[in-house]
Amino acid sequence: MSYDMNNIFAKIIRGEIPSDKVYEDAHVLAFKDIRPQAKVHVLIIPKGPYISSQDFSEKASDVEIVAFNRAIAKVAKAAGVAVTGYRVIANTGPDGRPEVPHYHVHILGGQNMGRMVSLD
Ligand code: 5GP
Repeated sequence: MSYDMNNIFAKIIRGEIPSDKVYEDAHVLAFKDIRPQAKVHVLIIPKGPYISSQDFSEKASDVEIVAFNRAIAKVAKAAGVAVTGYRVIANTGPDGRPEVPHYHVHILGGQNMGRMVSLD
């Protein structure tokens, strides 16, 4: 599978679609999820063209990986959940069932997040 330059997050990075930005640096963008599933629901994405967690962890530079992980803490502070806590989710591959083929993690919090997984 090759990276789709026209996926919705690529368009957000290029500024072709608006987003409610929470954090940005040279390598990372974070914005509120359009269909929030918790009181706080922020998506963090690398600016580089990576499809999934697997793709990112295999191919991204050390600089990009460090920036992405540092951004999680910065976003949690900016979103007001660094102290109360939050869940980080990355849906990957056929069993993970991501909707958007650009690597992202969900930061979910602002409330008790309940059980980790419920299978349908
Ligand atoms: P996934 O299921 O791929 O892990 O998560 C994709 C997330 O992207 C979903 O939670 C969905 O609500 C969110 N999303 C999809 N399209 C847009 C959009 O255009 N803007 C924003 N802010 N979020 C989006």
